[in-house]
Amino acid sequence: MERLPAFELKRPTSLAQAIEWLAATPEARAIAGGTDLVPNLRDGIGAPPVLVDLSRVPGFDAYEIRTAGARIGAGVTLARLASDAGLAAALPAVSAAAASIAGPGHRSVATVGGNLCVDTRCVYYNQSEWWRKANGYCLKHRGDTCHVAPTGTRCHAAYQGDLAPALIACGASVELAGPRGTRTIALEDLYRDDGLAHLALEPGELVVAVAVPAQPRGAVSAYRKARARGAIDFPLAGVAVRLAVDDGRVTAIDVALTGTNSRPFRLAGTAAWVGRAVDDGLLAELGKAVQKQVSPMRTTVTQSNWRRQVASVEAQRLVRDLATVAS
Ligand code: SF4
Repeated sequence: MERLPAFELKRPTSLAQAIEWLAATPEARAIAGGTDLVPNLRDGIGAPPVLVDLSRVPGFDAYEIRTAGARIGAGVTLARLASDAGLAAALPAVSAAAASIAGPGHRSVATVGGNLCVDTRCVYYNQSEWWRKANGYCLKHRGDTCHVAPTGTRCHAAYQGDLAPALIACGASVELAGPRGTRTIALEDLYRDDGLAHLALEPGELVVAVAVPAQPRGAVSAYRKARARGAIDFPLAGVAVRLAVDDGRVTAIDVALTGTNSRPFRLAGTAAWVGRAVDDGLLAELGKAVQKQVSPMRTTVTQSNWRRQVASVEAQRLVRDLATVAS
């Protein structure tokens, strides 16, 4: 890795000041834990003239976990999520996802907002400056060709955050603040399936908090991911499931995925399984739905079809295992 490029560090003490400084310099970047941004900057990926440090913004570390729902500030660390017994009881998928991210040192400073906004990744992009230069760079940064799909015009870098699928499966919304005011959107709507610009944030806009509603009666949830290194790694394919079963029949089922597309996304069509028993037929339909809706490309060291199969099998396993807990 190279030395960090020169930048001006702004340390706002209010949300309004943070937004003002971000909006004043279009290339400015917000920084909290820096566990994603700093390695990228040291690899020569971007050179923002201004970094806006959010650690002193009041309220960014707000943390409320209640049976009626949760509200988690963007500045809450992943270590706090992973170690909170209340979160593990109320939203086990979110707790498991937080605990699976990187290593303890990263989690002690990495934040909820940072993980939700983590950059998309690709084996041709997350490399040193000299490596990327020797390969003519690529469409995502400095180059004009995608090495994954050379005849295409878009970047297929994969979103590999862990918290987003768990929160999406649990029905989360995200609170945003920017120069034009505040707004709340469904978390899945924060993302676009575009590896080059996967966040639907307006210029100067920030993630302030994530809110999770009360969970359906009897609902249980879980998150699992496949990764190259079990101790510390991004998901090659990750699946979150929230399931509620009553008298042997599904009353609610939500599935969300990460690591396979340029955005985390909610599996479409799950409402059709409400009222059904969790049996081999339902699991077969689930597996096919996942295989059809994921679109892994050659952006990791593992084969695309392996990630497709793993996503499908992990979704089936999660639903089958949760069904035994929920019933
Ligand atoms: Fe670059 Fe293509 Fe990889 Fe995107 S998918 S980072 S454009 S090589």
